[in-house]
Order: sequence, then structure tokens, then C-alpha cells
Amino acid sequence: MVSDHPIQYVKGVGPGRSKLLQRLDIKTIEDALYYLPSRYEDRRNIKKIRELNYGSLETTMGEVVGIEVTTTPRKGIKIFELTLMDSTGVLKAKWFNQPFMKQYFKHGQRVILSGHVKSNAYYGIGIEMESPEFEIIKDEQDRLIHTGRIVPIYRGTEGLSPKQLRTIMMEVVVGHIDEIKDFLPEEIRLRNSLMPLGEAIKNVHFPEDASIEELNRGVSTAHRRLIFDEFFILELGLSMIKRGEDIERGITFKAESPLVRALLERLPFKPTKAQERVFDEIRRDMAGPTVMNRLMHGDVGCGKTIVALMSMLLAVDSGYQAALMAPTEILAEQHYLNIHHMIEALGLKAALLTGSLKERPIQDIAEGSTQIVIGTHALIQEGISFKKLGLVIIDEQHRFGVIQRASLRKKGFNPDVLVMTATPIPRTLALTLYGDLDVSTIDELPPMRHGVETKVLFSSQKERIYSLMRQELEKGRQAYVVYPIIEGSEKVDLKSAIEGAKAFQQIFQRRNVGLIHGRMKPGEREEIMASFKAGKIDILVATTVIEVGVDVPNATVMVIVHAERFGLAQLHQLRGRVGRGGHQSYCLLVAYPPMGDEAKKRLKVMEETSDGFRIAEEDLIIRGPGDFFGTRQAGIPDLRAANLIRDIRILEAARREAFAITDKDPGLKAYPSLRDAIKHKWQGRIDLIRVS
Ligand code: ADP
Ligand code: MG
Repeated sequence: MVSDHPIQYVKGVGPGRSKLLQRLDIKTIEDALYYLPSRYEDRRNIKKIRELNYGSLETTMGEVVGIEVTTTPRKGIKIFELTLMDSTGVLKAKWFNQPFMKQYFKHGQRVILSGHVKSNAYYGIGIEMESPEFEIIKDEQDRLIHTGRIVPIYRGTEGLSPKQLRTIMMEVVVGHIDEIKDFLPEEIRLRNSLMPLGEAIKNVHFPEDASIEELNRGVSTAHRRLIFDEFFILELGLSMIKRGEDIERGITFKAESPLVRALLERLPFKPTKAQERVFDEIRRDMAGPTVMNRLMHGDVGCGKTIVALMSMLLAVDSGYQAALMAPTEILAEQHYLNIHHMIEALGLKAALLTGSLKERPIQDIAEGSTQIVIGTHALIQEGISFKKLGLVIIDEQHRFGVIQRASLRKKGFNPDVLVMTATPIPRTLALTLYGDLDVSTIDELPPMRHGVETKVLFSSQKERIYSLMRQELEKGRQAYVVYPIIEGSEKVDLKSAIEGAKAFQQIFQRRNVGLIHGRMKPGEREEIMASFKAGKIDILVATTVIEVGVDVPNATVMVIVHAERFGLAQLHQLRGRVGRGGHQSYCLLVAYPPMGDEAKKRLKVMEETSDGFRIAEEDLIIRGPGDFFGTRQAGIPDLRAANLIRDIRILEAARREAFAITDKDPGLKAYPSLRDAIKHKWQGRIDLIRVS
């Protein structure tokens, strides 16, 4: 691997600058080599002053012929003015309120300026730049590094300018490029038409021959090599985690389950083809010789809960216990509320277990008389002992990272694991964030589902909301109204659920208005939910506690107040609470301007489509991968050169190569430098010993 030597010992760095470099996360030579330019400037043919175009962002170079600080007559603002000249003309540059800049310059110096070109504001003749970026070219060496080529512009920090960074980078690249060992097996490199690593790193910093436009988009040939590497190392790690979990287990599940049959007989519907197929995939995993690690995803309302329940029953039939873990207490309560009757009707015992519950059925779980436990993940962390835990279902929304999942096993459990997401996940995330799992997709909604008619309204159109609600309530249907916050405060000017409940009770005096939010005690919440389910409450005013898991088919109206404040996945999830019972349903998104561009886009997507797969992709594009991904948090290596949306093709290629290589050689015995690279980039988080 590339040298771990401290950056301090690079020529021109020293202790002072190495402290500054640390702020940019550059501690070693390798860190520096992987610190990529944020953009590039084409200085192969620097324009003459006379060639500059008004209004454009331009770069030029000239000799200092004027240095002056002036003061505006009325406001007394100090302006630093620099005048440059070349063989074709004169250019002025101005900086406001920075008189100290005077000390940086001397007559006769050569200076590069980059900025927007304007005509002289005062006289209307001559050209000038306001607060341009500047670089002083001191000597011949400077000229060689900073001009006559495409130059990298690095994000600097106080005390370390882009130009100084470029000088350091030149030193690092020239001095250490030969130490870079290419860890990528030659045949993979050639098959994917990739540059050797050293060449790629050199060219990403000091491009020899590339289009400036490709460089600035981060897709030059050199970039492509680094992008491939990031994905390849990521996928190689995921494939090793996956194989490390292909452990034989003592457990064997039956392939046939009387409990599942009994459940299906009681259901008022037949499973869809997609539900059957996915349950089959799960069943095959569970009956197989190695531990299951599977992701189940699908659109809101596709019926994941039943499939999860069937899987749990299969485990119980084989003599094991099953647990369903949710990310929050409220979600756990919801799941419990939704399924415990079905479980009990089959003669089994179900329990709810969350941190805040006083009565915890710990004894029954330990003895095994409770077969199905629903709770938060405290359920495993707090060392609750199960008699025979065979299956864990994790219900999550991007909250549980790769490494956390792996650490589940280290707690001494070795159950089958089924991860279930609330909404579909885009393909890029399936390949990365969940890339160590096998994926099952429920790609079909139950029949008789009406689409939910969705409309964006403004706060001034309240009457339309009320009249729609009136119409539906008169038919015997029910409505949800969701607010972003529980209680109003002076700091945020948002409508709140508590105020909302009062207002709706005023307007609908003969109706029963209920209120539910996260600050209520669990018991109270359960009661409210139960009476809404039983039809005793007509209008349920809520916060996002009802986002997931709530299942009341008679509800046909979803009003979301301050819809501009919610994320796309959340809006889609909330909308999914209606349209579940074969009645035409409605979703009103009430927006309070002013709205940002992103909020407008989100609401437009909601009006346009109810396809959760499309919404998930749009969400990823609007928010950008960083928000979703948080690689640090997920425990997987950073992506610097790669972009999950733009580079999906490269991701797929890298994944194919990674899985193929660990297929042949799970411990990477024949590839020692690749092994080192994995260890290094995943920082020891992958247990290489277990796979070799
Ligand atoms: P989600 O995948 O969003 O969690 P749920 O599991 O909550 O969906 O199911 C949504 C609703 O559809 C529930 O009321 C459930 O009972 C019902 N349902 C599930 N499967 C079917 C089916 N095959 N046919 C009809 N209704 C179904
Ligand atoms: Mg659900």
C-alpha cells in the first residue's frame, strides 16, 4: 500500500503546515494523494487581457503596475485596488474592506486572477474584476507548477491557500507516486479498461491530457479508475461480510408449516404472487444449511407484514422463537397492535418488549413460552435471553448499518436475519448499504387497490380540505391529519398537532376528534389507536408517529399539514396509510409558502406518481447520496470520487468483479496486496480471519 509516512516530512510542509493539513484530514502521504481537487482551471493558454469577455468567469495573468488603497467618499469604505498589465491591456481588480491585502503585492510581480469580468463601474471604460481569486507567481518554479497546464484547485483552509496546497501536492505526487502499489489484479484492470493506479493518481492531480469539462465533472479516465477502486473495495468488503455470514448453523427449519397454513386459512385474502414468491425465497433460505441474511422490500401497502409473520410462524413451527425489532418504540407498538391478535388466534403467545415498558415478560421469553417477541433493538442489546431464538426480523429505514447487523451475531446469537424496509430502496442502495444481503422484492400490490388521489393545496384553500373531509366522513369513512410538531413554540412558526386537534374539533363539532403523538405514554397511544381502528374516532390528528405500520382500511383521507417540511419517503409512507381498503382515497398536501426548490420538487413528485420505486429514485436524486448514505455512520468506507447516482454502471461492474474474486478465493490468499487494501480501507472492520 501507499506510504503511511506523515505528511510533515514532505518538503515544504513541516510541523506548522502539517497541523493545517490535518484540518483537511490529511495526515499521511496517502491521505494527500487521495485528497482530490474540487475543480480544475485550464491554464494551458491563459487569456490575454484584451481577450477577456464581459460577464464571463475568466482567468488571466499580468504584471503588477498599480497598488492602491482608496476610500469611498460617502461611506468611507476602504477599497484595495490592484492594476495588472500585459502586452494587450490593463485590468483592475478590487477588494472591499480588505486594505491589508496591500502587503501581499509588489510592483513587477506576475499575478494570476480568476473572476467575473465587468466593465469599470465608475467610468464605464476599462475592465475590472471584483474580489477575484489570485495567485502570485514568484519565480520560475512557480511558473512551471501553476501555469501552462490544467491546474487543480483544492479546497483550502485558513492559512493554506489553494496555491500552497498545489505546491505541496506537486511535491507529494512527484516524490511518492512510485511508491504506489497497484492493488487491483491486472486482469480486472484490463477487463474494465482502467488506468494503472499510479498514473490515475498523478493525472487526477496534474492532468496531462484530458478534457477540462470531464475533469470538472469528475469523470475523466483518471477519475474513473479511482471511482472503480472505491466501489470495488466497498463491494469486496461486503462480499466478505456476506461470506463470513454464510455460516453453518445448528438450526434446521421445517419446509412445511401447519401454522402458516392455519394463518392463511384465516386471512380474508389470498397472498399475491409476489408475496408467495418472496416467502418462498425466505423459506428456502430458512430450510437451507447456512444462516439467512435477506432484505425484503417493496412499496407501501404491498403486504410485507404478512410475509414477515409467515416467516416467524415457520420458525415457531420448527421449535424456535422469533423476534421482530423496530427502530422506535412507537413502531414496535404498532407492529404489536397489528399482529398480536393473529398470533394469539393461532394459540401462540406474543409479547411486546420496549425499554420504557414496566412489565417485561422476560421470564416467559427465557423459558420459551412466549414464541414471538416484538420490540425495539434494546431487545437484543440488553441481554434478554431467549430460549431458542431462530429468526430475527429487523424493520428499519436506513437506520441500521452494515456493521451493526454484523455485530448482532457477535452477541452470541446466530439466528436467521430478515431485514425489512418500509419503502422500496433504490438499486444503488441495495448494492451498497444493503450489499451484504440477498434481496427479495415484493413488486406487486394486492388487487382492488385504488390509487390515492393526491393534491397539493395551499393554506389559503382550507375550505376544500374541510369539504372533502365532510364528504368522506358522511360516507362513514375516517381521516388522518398529520402535523410536523406536537406543540407550538415561539421559536418555530409551525402549526402543531395539539392546536390542530382543537381547531378540527371546533369545525367538526359532531365528530370525534382524537389526538396521538410521541410524548404520550405507550398505553395511552395504544388506546387511541385501538379506538380509531374500531371506528370510534372519526378524525385522528397526529404527528408522524403514524408514519409506519398503522393499518386502518376504513380511513380514506390523509391531510398533511406543512407538507413542504416532510421528506419524500415520509410523505409516501404517510400517504400509504390510506387507500388500503378498496375505497377511493385522497391525500391532501397542505403547503405553507415560501417553499424552497427542493420542497417544490418533492410535492410535484408526490402529485405525479404513487409508485414507491420511482419515488425512491427521485428522492435519492433530489437529496443526493450523502444524506442517505452517511458512510461513516453505516461503517463502510467513504466514497470520494464516486457518485452513487451517476456511477451506477461502474458500481455494477465493480460488484461483479468483487463477488467473482471472492467466489474463487474467499480469503484473497492469492492477492496479498488486495487483502492489505481491504484491511486498510475498511479499517479492520471486516473479520478476514473468519473467511480465510
Ligand atoms: P406494508 O408492506 O406497507 O407493510 P402491510 O403489510 O401493512 O403493507 O399491508 C397493507 C394492508 O394490505 C394490510 O391491511 C394487509 O392486511 C393487507 N394485505 C396484505 N396482503 C394482502 C393481499 N394479498 N390481498 C389483500 N390485502 C392484503
Ligand atoms: Mg407495514
